[in-house]
Amino acid sequence: MNNQHLQTPIEYLKGVGVSRAEALKKELQIYRFEDLLRHFPYKHIDRTRFYKIKDIQPDMPYVQVLARVFQKEILGEKHTKRLIVQAKDDTGVIELAWFQGIRWVEKMVVPGKVYVLFGKPGFFNGKVQMSHPELEPYTPGVQQKGNLTLQPAYNSTEKLKQFSLDSKGIQKLVAILLEQHGRDIEENLPAYIINRMRLMPRADAYRYIHFPNNANQLKEAQYRLKFEELFFLQLKLLKNKLLHTQKFKGNIFDKVGNYFNDFYHHKLPFPLTNAQKRVLREIRQDTQRGVQMNRLLQGDVGSGKTVVALMCMLIAIDNGFQACIMAPTEILATQHYETIKNLVGDGFVEVALLTGSVPQKARRVIHEHLEDGRLQILVGTHALIEDKVQYKNLGFVVIDEQHRFGVEQRAKLWKKNIIPPHVLVMTATPIPRTLAMTMYGDLDISVIDELPAGRKPIQTIHFYEAQRLRMFGFMKQEIAKGRQIYVVYPLIQESEKLDLKNLQDGVEIMSREFPLPQYRISIVHGKLKAAEKEFEMQRFIKGETQIMVATTVIEVGVNVPNASVMIIENAERFGLSQLHQLRGRVGRGAEQSYCILMSKEKLSNDGRIRLNTMVKTNNGFEIAEIDMQLRGPGNIEGTQQSGVLDLKVADLATDQEVLQQARDLVIEIFDKDPQLASPENMILNRAFQQKDGGLTWNKIS
Ligand code: ADP
Ligand code: MG
Repeated sequence: MNNQHLQTPIEYLKGVGVSRAEALKKELQIYRFEDLLRHFPYKHIDRTRFYKIKDIQPDMPYVQVLARVFQKEILGEKHTKRLIVQAKDDTGVIELAWFQGIRWVEKMVVPGKVYVLFGKPGFFNGKVQMSHPELEPYTPGVQQKGNLTLQPAYNSTEKLKQFSLDSKGIQKLVAILLEQHGRDIEENLPAYIINRMRLMPRADAYRYIHFPNNANQLKEAQYRLKFEELFFLQLKLLKNKLLHTQKFKGNIFDKVGNYFNDFYHHKLPFPLTNAQKRVLREIRQDTQRGVQMNRLLQGDVGSGKTVVALMCMLIAIDNGFQACIMAPTEILATQHYETIKNLVGDGFVEVALLTGSVPQKARRVIHEHLEDGRLQILVGTHALIEDKVQYKNLGFVVIDEQHRFGVEQRAKLWKKNIIPPHVLVMTATPIPRTLAMTMYGDLDISVIDELPAGRKPIQTIHFYEAQRLRMFGFMKQEIAKGRQIYVVYPLIQESEKLDLKNLQDGVEIMSREFPLPQYRISIVHGKLKAAEKEFEMQRFIKGETQIMVATTVIEVGVNVPNASVMIIENAERFGLSQLHQLRGRVGRGAEQSYCILMSKEKLSNDGRIRLNTMVKTNNGFEIAEIDMQLRGPGNIEGTQQSGVLDLKVADLATDQEVLQQARDLVIEIFDKDPQLASPENMILNRAFQQKDGGLTWNKIS
């Protein structure tokens, strides 16, 4: 916040002082007035209505009750001394208990009188009960003090409570602060935005987010602050992108030539989906503008990203450039290499594979051919961004599986050419749109949201342990048809030993059920040496084994079209995105594929939602959305350094619309005024000169 008063250290607030200030700093990181102002209530308690006693549920937070006291007594001695008051309305009885301030309350409570009670209900011996409720005599017809508003509830800690800074105590401090400095809160958005978006003025928003007069006012205050928060985040992200495009020129691919055309007309064995065509168009446009492309391509496993990437590489070659594709593991790199070789056929383009296990001599040849330009497409792992790998003219880079490559590595690739190559990042882990817009500020985003025609959707079935025999029966039936099966066990992160045990038990059960010589089983887990793992995998890939029992190591990278059944043991232990990734290992051939989720009988609420979601949909974006609702944006893979976690008011899981509005507006503003130089936008420019609204800019990539 820009106003100096609000930067005052918290100890100077009336009612705080040195020791409370220490506690506030330590416990809640409240150092300055501003921090207290931004210690927002986590909810508001509805004091606008009275609950009937019979309607009170054990899990209710705070409730307000109107009841007539009919009995009071002091029980116990010394430490166990307590005041018990019985009260009732026309639906039931409630018991009130005090363990402190007994004498005072006892004097005040008069049997026969009606009181407004307010507190957190509990159940004790089957009775509705409330400890230390607030209590106030009820006068019909007179507005009750405090009972007609939404009361803020604040996070506090045990330590703070020792300083009388429970929710109520904090509330008092916030009230004092607003009283003294509420008017010092300056507007930080230009009037035209406030008018157009119908925003509440900033100072009002800070007041009413704490102390709203009604639900509507609270909503407006929240909206204003959410909008502001997301707006400035987008302003920063898009500004960076703008700077980036100004700083980095891009190679211009101005023609589509023989490589692309030959491939498209004579080699591509299927028609492209509309989504694939759309993405190709987007990339075509990007690569003709003279600006370096940085694009994220999202699409489920099997949606045809690799083909699109290959066609882009062919366009690069048509324009006299080299291209490379980088995968996170050797297995994946090898698979890309084979896929590409198969698609382009012999003698069409020069393709090579470079991984850590390529022998020195072969490696030297690759280096040489890269430098003289003979080699047109290089496929590989990290090995291909090593310093000694030099390209003659690298124009297009594909990076598969975003999560494993950081911004730094991308930056390293830019340096592989005088004009940095265009970069296409592919990920099969769909991210909800709001997250993508926030996490990948410097990337444009393309989506393949359509599977190739004729693909049979994977059928997902949820079995409980009691149905295990049915599951075995199903496995046998599929194996009899010539299919292969994955059986996956979860990794339990607390204990590697337990993991292995889990897997070994599973192997034993499977071996008993599927004995030699009729059945053969591959076993793969993290403790195997690379060579052993490879051997086991190969046996399965070649069809020598029908069942592959594995921990999640198979998550990335195996492609066995004949494997049509994925069995996930203890499925309730997996996260949604992981379940979806695992399921994506099947459904790659022509056969109907299945995913069987095995779980114990008793599921947590979230566990049930996860499994139901998997049964209900194959759509990765839908699944990602639900995953975010369940776990919150901060727990989604890859969000850690994205600025998402710094959001204090907005929530990407629920505020998609606000985010979209904020982003659209920012785009429009930069279109008209990229420097934010117009007088009306000067106020926005200030956001870059100072830390604003608690956002830490440097965390945003
Ligand atoms: P992804 O990289 O998104 O997982 P791939 O590009 O590897 O997907 O494609 C998966 C499979 O589908 C491959 O065998 C590929 O040849 C095939 N494929 C891709 N696009 C199409 C399409 N439009 N029609 C039919 N099959 C396709
Ligand atoms: Mg792929």
